[in-house]
Amino acid sequence: MGLMDSLKKGLKRSREAINEIFYMGGEVDEDFWEDLEDTLVMGDMGAEVALSVTDDLREQAARENLVRADQLKDALARRLAAEFPAAARDPFEDLPSCVVFVGINGAGKTTTVGKLAGRARDAGTSCLIGGADTFRAAAIEQLEVWGRRAGVDVITRERGADPASVCYDVVEEAERRGSELVLVDTAGRLHTSADLMRELAKLVGVTRKRSAAPVSVVLVIDATTGQNGLAQAREFNDALDLDGLIVTKLDGTARGGIALAISSQLGLPIYRIGVGESLDDLQIFDALDFCRALVG
Ligand code: GDP
Repeated sequence: MGLMDSLKKGLKRSREAINEIFYMGGEVDEDFWEDLEDTLVMGDMGAEVALSVTDDLREQAARENLVRADQLKDALARRLAAEFPAAARDPFEDLPSCVVFVGINGAGKTTTVGKLAGRARDAGTSCLIGGADTFRAAAIEQLEVWGRRAGVDVITRERGADPASVCYDVVEEAERRGSELVLVDTAGRLHTSADLMRELAKLVGVTRKRSAAPVSVVLVIDATTGQNGLAQAREFNDALDLDGLIVTKLDGTARGGIALAISSQLGLPIYRIGVGESLDDLQIFDALDFCRALVG
């Protein structure tokens, strides 16, 4: 299955809901606008975005005299795409670069680091992985499996070591070797969320201070988390001043709207999307393609 197909399959639920209103009556009337707004809210996009998108589309329909719902479909995709802020810089292409991945356990951080390391190897980019989740022994083992698969070395320390010191080590080693890309995996859970944010803020601080290459802090977020994802993203952004997002599991039963809500409300670009569990299932994010898959 192609990447676009996996994305389309993952976004099936939103697409079906949107298609339903587009084909119900065929004519654009008051009910259509109400249904559209409700469907966007139900799709996790958030009430504010749903209202503003519906209002803009309604104005466009009046201005351009669009009376049939199917004439509005591409306009909807374009209007939704405009909600996504563009990335000023691609931290995986604009090298040298050091990227710290944060996010709760199970979001897909380790998998994403593995996929990106594999990509870097294929592109001939020299890469080094930092394993800063010293809280869980299994986390380091899992990262090392990905590292071996990608042919990229993993720098880490023993369980219980200070994660900030792992960041220091990996940046220093990268400079010694002349590595162009550093990918740092971090813990997704500690005793409390406040502990986690404190630890992450410290390791990000150390990395920013030590690294000569620009440092990006990227939140990895699972698209299937629904509205809870927005609160989660806000907490990470408040504590760490994020640079952007990677949204995973868009191949599953995700509605995809949460990606739009987080990106648009927090003003964070989406650098990549995950559409499966294997090494190749990572895609560069294209807002219009994504919204067309979402709309149908
Ligand atoms: P971490 O705790 O944030 O490091 O998360 P992991 O990388 O261990 O991923 C948690 C689970 O999600 C694993 O079973 C991964 O295979 C799975 N996963 C990660 N990314 C994707 C994705 O894009 N699509 C799907 N379907 N599964 C994913």
